[in-house]
Amino acid sequence: MSSSDLITIPARHGKALVLRAGQAVKLINTHGTQVVDFWAWKLDALDEFMSMEATRVWNQRLNPRVGDTLVTNYRNPIITIVEDTSPGVHDSFMAACDRQRYERLNVAEYHRNCFDNMIEAVRELGYEIPHPTLASLNVFMNIAVLPDGALDTLPTVTSPGEYIIFRADMDCIVAFSACPQDIVKIQGQDDNTPKNAHCCVMHSGFPDLEGTKPWVPAT
Ligand SMILES: [Zn+2]
Repeated sequence: MSSSDLITIPARHGKALVLRAGQAVKLINTHGTQVVDFWAWKLDALDEFMSMEATRVWNQRLNPRVGDTLVTNYRNPIITIVEDTSPGVHDSFMAACDRQRYERLNVAEYHRNCFDNMIEAVRELGYEIPHPTLASLNVFMNIAVLPDGALDTLPTVTSPGEYIIFRADMDCIVAFSACPQDIVKIQGQDDNTPKNAHCCVMHSGFPDLEGTKPWVPAT
């Protein structure tokens, strides 16, 4: 069998998985409108985790694309993007939504959020993250950088069924959150309602890309 059954990432909730080095996870934007926040940690040392700031240095890009390697806070490769059938619009610089973000958006009641989803999902696997970070890779999220440096928060541009495949470069835990954001308009062009996404673990059948090496300046 080259891949697992489809796993649902329920709307407004998270899902975490263990991936062995060389396996991959396919993340499917089932409805095309959903932003999915993504984290990863080294399986046997959870204080080492996928770092957006270190990844931007490694690839010298704001947002990663196919072929790019994502690295940890110790600058070790942890994930490589080996396929992406979406337009490739993802975001590495917006903080995951959390309880405080919705308070600042004037939501009086508890609002489900990606940060708590991540902690809950990893807990369901039996692990506790020592230093959870707001710095997720926000898959399918459409944040434009304007010429003056301002950010423009836009709806997703993904179509139903488009997917991205992340290969594990070390044994790791990965967590996804089907972002519960329903106030800021990020989930597609229409009703901004969070929806289910899906994923599956793949053992083979994905492109064998080498990944990127650390950037060093030309001498
Ligand atoms: Zn979110």
